[in-house]
Amino acid sequence: MDILWLLWIVPAALAVEETLMDSTTATAELGWTVYPVSGSSDNSWEEVSGYDETMNTIRTYQVCNVFDSNQNNWVRTKYIRRRGAQRIHVEMKFSVRDCSSIPGVPGSCKETFNLYYYESDSDTATKTFPPWMENPWIKVDTIAADESFSQVDLGGRVMKINTEVRSFGPVSRNGFYLAFQDYGGCMSLIAVRVFYRKCSSVIRNGAMFQETLAGAESTSLVAARGVCIPNAEEADVPIKLYCNGDGEWMVPIGRCVCKSGHEPVENGTVCKAVPSAPQNVISSVNETSLMLEWQPPRESGGREDVVYNIICKSCGGGRGGCTRCGDNVQYVPRQLGLTQSRVYISDLLAHTQYTFEVQAVNGVSDQSPYSPQYSSVNITTNQAAPSTVSIMHQVSRTVDSITLSWSQPDQPNGVILDYELQYYDKEQSEYNSSMIRSQTNTAVIRGLKPGRIYVFQVRARTVAGFGRYSGKMYFQTMTEAEYNTSIQEKLPLIIGSAAAGLVFLIAVVVIIIVCSRRGFERADSEYTDKLQHYTSGHMTPGMKIYIDPFTYEDPNEAVREFAKEIDISCVKIEQVIGAGEFGEVCSGNLKMPGKREMFVAIKTLKSGYTEKQRRDFLSEASIMGQFDHPNVIHLEGVVTKSSPVMIITEFMENGSLDTFLRQNDGQFTVIQLVGMLRGIASGMKYLADMNYVHRDLAARNILVNSNLVCKVSDFGLSRFLEDDTSDPTYTSALGGKIPIRWTAPEAIQYRKFTSASDVWSYGIVMWEVMSYGERPYWDMTNQDVINAIEQDYRLPPPMDCPSALHQLMLDCWQKDRNNRPKFSQIVNNLDKMIRNPNSLKAVTPLSSGVHLPLLDRSLPDFSSFSTVDEWLDAIKMGQYKDNFANADFSSFELVSQMTMDDILRVGVTLAGHQKKILNSVQMMRAQMNQIQSVEV
Ligand code: AMP
Repeated sequence: MDILWLLWIVPAALAVEETLMDSTTATAELGWTVYPVSGSSDNSWEEVSGYDETMNTIRTYQVCNVFDSNQNNWVRTKYIRRRGAQRIHVEMKFSVRDCSSIPGVPGSCKETFNLYYYESDSDTATKTFPPWMENPWIKVDTIAADESFSQVDLGGRVMKINTEVRSFGPVSRNGFYLAFQDYGGCMSLIAVRVFYRKCSSVIRNGAMFQETLAGAESTSLVAARGVCIPNAEEADVPIKLYCNGDGEWMVPIGRCVCKSGHEPVENGTVCKAVPSAPQNVISSVNETSLMLEWQPPRESGGREDVVYNIICKSCGGGRGGCTRCGDNVQYVPRQLGLTQSRVYISDLLAHTQYTFEVQAVNGVSDQSPYSPQYSSVNITTNQAAPSTVSIMHQVSRTVDSITLSWSQPDQPNGVILDYELQYYDKEQSEYNSSMIRSQTNTAVIRGLKPGRIYVFQVRARTVAGFGRYSGKMYFQTMTEAEYNTSIQEKLPLIIGSAAAGLVFLIAVVVIIIVCSRRGFERADSEYTDKLQHYTSGHMTPGMKIYIDPFTYEDPNEAVREFAKEIDISCVKIEQVIGAGEFGEVCSGNLKMPGKREMFVAIKTLKSGYTEKQRRDFLSEASIMGQFDHPNVIHLEGVVTKSSPVMIITEFMENGSLDTFLRQNDGQFTVIQLVGMLRGIASGMKYLADMNYVHRDLAARNILVNSNLVCKVSDFGLSRFLEDDTSDPTYTSALGGKIPIRWTAPEAIQYRKFTSASDVWSYGIVMWEVMSYGERPYWDMTNQDVINAIEQDYRLPPPMDCPSALHQLMLDCWQKDRNNRPKFSQIVNNLDKMIRNPNSLKAVTPLSSGVHLPLLDRSLPDFSSFSTVDEWLDAIKMGQYKDNFANADFSSFELVSQMTMDDILRVGVTLAGHQKKILNSVQMMRAQMNQIQSVEV
C-alpha cells in the first residue's frame, strides 16, 4: 500500500550539527533489515515510497497490526559510522494512529514504539544478528507521539507529523545500528536523521580554537586550548573555551591581546600593525591661524600608506573643559587624511587656547575601534582682525539716500571700533568709490542719485585692524516717481498721527507690508534678484517702531505677525538647561528645510496653562520677533500648533551674564569687560530707537554666547504683574512689581518707565559687570536702598574699576533723568575708551576688596576750592573751621588722611556731622587718587 505522505521538514537547529545518516536523502531503497522477515509475515515494517513537501521522493517504513496481539516488529538501519562523535542524536519524524479511532480494535493496540542502538566496530549484522531483543540492543527510549491522528482521508493525507529527538552516549566503537520496535501500533516512520554536535572553529578573545566535538553527555563541557592569533600574546592565564553538549562555545578563560604596535581590527580577529605617534610636532601661531609641522612616526605600522588626521579642541572658553572645535575652523590642504606632515589652520577664535592632536593612521585605521596614536600641542591664539560681515540689508531709502544695516561679523575677534562702508554707482568704475565710517552697524548713505543702483561693501575694524570686505551687495535709490507715490500714501497718516497714535502704528505696518509687496513686483535689471532680496520697501527712516502685542485685540494675531511658526518635526530637544517662568528651558537642535541645522534654546510652556498664561508666554515672542540686532537675542520662531507650546531662540552657550561673571571672577581684561558693556549698550540703543522700554535690564537678563557677545533678553511682561509672587527680586509696588535695586527712582515712585530709566538700570549692569556679578547694594534692604538713593548716595567703584567707567555709572544714576546720557552717547563713550585704552588705566585704588560705603553724590569736588575753610563752607560744616585750624588740618593733603578718630579729636561731636565730614574726606581721597592716577 503506497501512501503519499506530505512532509514538513523542520529547519536545522542553530547549533552546529554534523549528519551521520539521513533517510530522506536516500536516492534508492533504504533497504533496512526487517524482522520478522518480509514474506514470512504480511504484517511487519514495510518500506513505502512517499513525497516530501517539495514532492521529492522519500522512503518511509510503515506498520499497522492493531488487530493482532503479541506483535514484535523490528526494523534495523544500516551500519552508521561514528566519525569520532561521543554522543549521538536521533531525530525521528513519524505519525501514529489513535487506537480509539479504530472501530473494534482490541486493548493490545499501541500508540508508541521503542528506539534501540547496538555498537559494533564493523558492519557485522545479519538477519539474525544481533538477536531481535533488548540486550544485546540497548534501549534509548519508548517514543510516544505528541499527537496521534484519528482519521485518514481517502488520500491518507490528513496526518499529524511528530518530531522527536533522542540522544545517547558515550559511544566508543567505530559505528552502530539503530532499531525501531513496534509492538502493536499503526504508525509510519517518515524520516530518521542521525547526527552529532560540535563547536566549529572560532577566533574568540584574540585566540583561535579548533573545531571541537561535543562531549559524551548533554551536560559535559569539553575544554579547548586556544592559540593566540598572529601578533597577539597571552595576557594572563592560558586561554581556554568550553564546548557544551549543544555544540556551543562557552566560559571563555583568559585572553590574547595584540602586541604593542598592533591594534585589533575586524572585531578583534586580526592584530594589525599601526603607526606610532607622529614626532616633534611644531606649531607657529600667527594671529588666529597657525602652521603645524611634524615628523613621521618611528613605526609606520608595516604599511606605506601612513596619513595624518588633525583633531582640534578649544579649551577654557567659559564653561570648563575642552570641546571639539566647530566646523568653521579651516584646514589647508585638509583636516583628515593628510599625506604631508604639515597643515595650515585658520579661522580660529582670537585669544583662545587650543589643543591640536596630530594622529598617525594608515589605510585600515578608520575601521579600527581603537584611537590612533597621536602627539599634541597646546597653543593660544593672538589678536586678529574681525571676520567678514555676511549679511547687509536695506532699512529704508529715498531718492538720494539709502539706509543700510548689517550683522556683526561672526568672529569679531575683539571689540568692533567701527565699520567702513565703500560704495559706488554700479555704472561707474570701482575706482570712483566713496567711503564712509560708522560706529554702529547701520549707516545712512546720502548724496546719491535717484533711481540708481549702488554697489556696497562693508568691513569691520578692531584694534587689530580691518577685516576683509564683505561681498558686493546692490541697492537702488528711489526714483522720483516712486517717491511721489510713497508721499501720497503716507500723507493722510502723517496728518492724523498725533490724534491716533495706535492707529498710526498699525497703519504703518500695513503700509510696510503693502509697499514691500509692491517692491517685489518690479523686474527690470540683471540685479533684480539681489535687489529684491535686499530691498525691504519704501520706508522712511525712523519708522520701525516697536508695537506692544497687547495693543492687538487678539494677541494671537501679534504672534502670527511677528513670530514664524515652526513645525515641531524640525525641533529636537536635547536637555533641560534652566527653569523659565512658564516651564523648562531646554537646549536642542533646529533643522529647517533647506537650512543648516542650528543649536537653539527652547522655552516651553508647561501643561495645564490658562489661556492668559499662554498669551503672556507668547507675548515675549511677539516682542522679540520685532527685533533684529546682534546684541538682542534672536527669535527663530514659535511652535503653537502642537503641544507643548515653545519659543525657540538662538542658543547662548555661556548662559546668563550674572552667573557667567560669578563663575569667571577676575578672568577678563578690562577691555573684554568694556566690550561686553558696549554690546549691551548697543542692543539697548537699538531697543530705545525702536521706542521699546525694557524695564528689567539687569545682568541676569543678558545672555552671553561663546564669543562673549552679550545680548539683551527677557522680554516677558508677566513678572511685573501683581499676581506673580514667585521671585523676591521683584517687589510689589503700586501698579505692578519692580526690581528695586535696578530701577530708577522715578520709576519706583511713580512708574515713570522710559529709556532714561533703562539707562539707570544700565548703570547698575555696568556695576554688576565690573564687580563680576556682585549683588548691587550687597545685603542692604530694599527700603535702605530707596532711602540711600533719595539721599544722593550711589554705588562706589568696584575693585579695579577704571574711574572713567565709574564716572559713566554715576552719570547713568543722575537723579534728573534728563541729565542721564542716552544709550547712543554711552555707546560712543565706550567706543572711545576702547579706542584709547589708556583712558581705562586710571583706577580708584582700594586698600582691599572690602565694600566701600556708598558715595554721597551731593558732596562737591574739593579741587574746586583753594582752602580747607572754603571746602568746609561748601559741605556746610563751616562751624568747624577753627577746630580744623587748631588741630593743624590746614591742607587738603592732611585733611584727606583724616580718620574717624581725628574727626572726633578736632571736636566734632554730633554723629550726623561726623558722618558728613568722614564721607567728604573719603570723597576727597578718592578724587585725589583719581587725579594722581591720571597724572601717572
Ligand atoms: P528665562 O526664562 O529667559 O529667564 O530663562 C531661564 C534660564 O534659561 C536663563 O537664566 C538661562 O540660563 C537659560 N536660557 C534662556 N534662554 C537661553 C538661550 N537663548 N541660550 C542659553 N540659555 C538660555
